[in-house]
Amino acid sequence: MFTQYIELDSGQPATPLWLVDEDSLALWRDGREARQVAWVAAQGFKGKAGDLLLLPAADGQCAGVLAGVPRGDALGPWDLAPAAGRLPAGRYRLLPDGKRQLGEGRLGWLLAHYRFDRYRSEAAATEPRVLVAGEDATVNLEACRQAAAVALVRDLVNTPAGDMGPAVLADAARQLAARHGAEMHETIGDALLAEGFPTIHMVGRAAADAPRLIDIRWGDPDHPKVTLVGKGVCFDSGGLDLKPSSAMLLMKKDMGGAAHALALAQMVMDARLPVRLRVLVPAVENSVSGNAFRPGDVVRTRKGITVEIGNTDAEGRLVLADALALACEETPDLLLDFATLTGAARVALGPELPALFTPDTTLATELAAHADAVSDPLWRLPLWDGYRDMLASTVADINNSSESGFAGAITAALFLQRFVASPVTWAHFDLYAWNGSAKPGRPKGGEAMTLRACWALLSARFIAK
Ligand code: MN
Ligand code: MN
Repeated sequence: MFTQYIELDSGQPATPLWLVDEDSLALWRDGREARQVAWVAAQGFKGKAGDLLLLPAADGQCAGVLAGVPRGDALGPWDLAPAAGRLPAGRYRLLPDGKRQLGEGRLGWLLAHYRFDRYRSEAAATEPRVLVAGEDATVNLEACRQAAAVALVRDLVNTPAGDMGPAVLADAARQLAARHGAEMHETIGDALLAEGFPTIHMVGRAAADAPRLIDIRWGDPDHPKVTLVGKGVCFDSGGLDLKPSSAMLLMKKDMGGAAHALALAQMVMDARLPVRLRVLVPAVENSVSGNAFRPGDVVRTRKGITVEIGNTDAEGRLVLADALALACEETPDLLLDFATLTGAARVALGPELPALFTPDTTLATELAAHADAVSDPLWRLPLWDGYRDMLASTVADINNSSESGFAGAITAALFLQRFVASPVTWAHFDLYAWNGSAKPGRPKGGEAMTLRACWALLSARFIAK
């Protein structure tokens, strides 16, 4: 899918693309023709990160391009995106200055070609800019694998709820499973009650598109068990405790967690990681109808814990509860859940920094290191036991929402923890899955967050052995 935008260097004709920063521009000038040095000065090009300068040849053709990148030993994932987004179509040979490594830089180059134009009457013309770089095909292919996974998250999130209801999300999961020879089982509508998923049924039963649990299995059963769970609320009106219009506007993205779980699964299966993979996606629409669940209702969950509904807009943790309980019944070696769960996590950390919750400090430390290494940031928040009382109920074991306005991301994570069996190594990601404004390589709209950090973790944990 992205392989057309990157090629190994085999000496093919290509325009030189010199990477420079504000310090190394002086080194580049050494030994250049006076004409080119004068052009750079006349254009006021200083090597600032993100700046681009085309150099004319004597015949008026492009003799090469200078691209400003940040100082440092290696490129970050988005450092080449400004160039890839603005260069004329063509083939460019990467010529880093000094010892600078290409690093993560391939990713932004590839993703600068991402478009979501499904609903445009005229699709934007594709302007392929081919990067000629490197001598190791596996490195370029790995970058393409990651770009394809990010693009999958974006496509699934960007597709409006009218075209991405629970059934269509299940179709996307089925196509993914079929491509990689995975098994998929779907539990739909009233079968959710018969098979013991009352919370998924409760949240989704008011929608015209039936609620369902998507269950994908792949890989050798003898390999370590990795289970991914994703919140698949295809649209969140808030239910009867309806959201105000401004808060409802982006709720097509409330299946962003499911998109992350599927995209991470795509990478695992594509790379044939030696794990037994399972993906669980409770896919529902939180809608309003005569049979909608109500504030004050009580549900007995799969795990047996009874939950009073304090607010129908705290639906994500409900559908995740039964999915997490199911996941833990086979005691996976690693359990990761992804969810656009709380606004409180955004209040705490803002849109670009997903919250990580895990009781496992080793896992948290590993994840932080991988997140840092691949520039896919996350920040650990505590499962602070002292706030458990905030979920107290007067009629049931717990309430799904806290009366307090404080620590909403933490109380949501504490709620989930009730449904995770204690020996299971578990991490929960509360993420935004959205770019509120456009940056090079990152258009406004759906976005993958923590996806590459988790992939780095899985690769390190399960490939090396
Ligand atoms: Mn909600
Ligand atoms: Mn929600």
